[in-house]
Amino acid sequence: MFVYADNAATTALSEEALSEMERGLKEIYGNPSSLHFKGREAEAALKEAREKVASAVGAEPSEIYFTSGGSESDNWAIKGAAKLGAAKGKRHLITTAFEHHAVLHTMQSLEKEGFEVTYLPVHENGIVRPEEVLNSIREDTALVSVMYANNEIGTIQPIKEIGRICREKGVLFHTDAVQAVGHIPVDVRSDNTDMMSVSGHKFHGPKGTGFLYVRKGIRLPNLIEGGGQEQRRRAGTENLAGIMGMSEALRIAVRDMDEHMERVSAMRDRLISEIEKIPRVRLNGDRERRLPGNINFCFDGIEGESLLLSLDLEGICASSGSACTSGSLEPSHVLLAIGIPKEVAHGSLRLSIDAVNTDEEIDYITEKLPPIVERLRDMSPVWEEIIKEERKISA
Ligand SMILES: *Cc1c(COP(=O)(O)O)cnc(C)c1O
Repeated sequence: MFVYADNAATTALSEEALSEMERGLKEIYGNPSSLHFKGREAEAALKEAREKVASAVGAEPSEIYFTSGGSESDNWAIKGAAKLGAAKGKRHLITTAFEHHAVLHTMQSLEKEGFEVTYLPVHENGIVRPEEVLNSIREDTALVSVMYANNEIGTIQPIKEIGRICREKGVLFHTDAVQAVGHIPVDVRSDNTDMMSVSGHKFHGPKGTGFLYVRKGIRLPNLIEGGGQEQRRRAGTENLAGIMGMSEALRIAVRDMDEHMERVSAMRDRLISEIEKIPRVRLNGDRERRLPGNINFCFDGIEGESLLLSLDLEGICASSGSACTSGSLEPSHVLLAIGIPKEVAHGSLRLSIDAVNTDEEIDYITEKLPPIVERLRDMSPVWEEIIKEERKISA
């Protein structure tokens, strides 16, 4: 059997998105900026795609800027807001300690340019406290950026409340909603967001697609100079087939969301309760306020890497930490941010499931995982130490 349980890293392209892309590549090959009928046809397809994604997040089409994905959108929103702030003498930014690297590394690059950044704690449950956002806002704060849902531990943040605080204080609010959009309800108006980053390949759209929502009235500096595309703010002939595929994938994700959330969270809860039968494991992140498909555990006494390799041999694709940092020996910054000790953070496993997964696949994981953990622990000197300690305590 083969189980793909790494949907937070990327998802498989859906049939619907593929057929839209095929139409985009084969038929709608005109340049949307051309004045002839092939151009007009492409322009109409672009407009339709923009309307589709706008309505999926409660925005207006003119507030949607197509980009190459989540990382680009994060970079644009944060650097753009920093520039807007600096023009008014505001050089303070607020974010959290467990953001995606597209946000964290952008913040770090701004620190080198003289901006001051406050990294809010996310506490043991992996959730930011709105009152701490409020308390850290200053006269010179240019931007607050808090992710909608965390990609490693799946915790969902109090975005509406943080958005309301920022709106009241007159501070720009950006959210990296890459893990949320297409999976849980997101609405830019009721969430009070000013900017929101989205990526197509996390909801069965193509890789290299995404968008940035920018609320009407915010004059975000241009990202790429050139032609007049994306309201002159991001030049370059549009990736039309990709945009068409992404917009169709998102339309379907939103259409089926209720049913998917229910079915996926039932599979998640079953998997969590099965894994909790293994001794000395701990679920990372809040139990209730988490994405329907996220399962993240620490297993005492073993390395996440060896766990992954063993699962891989059984045909199960999972992840330890984030895909971007795997290969490095550094433990996940997300797990460190929620207070997990370094040694324990090394033994983490993320299973990210989705509506394409089945109950049989969950059965397969629950059958394969416990003996793997047992075998790895049998070979582990760290585990041996843990057991010795336990015996001492109980003696
Ligand atoms: C995947 C991911 C990104 C990066 O998106 P890309 O489209 O791959 O650039 C950013 N933020 C979060 C939370 C993610 O999960």
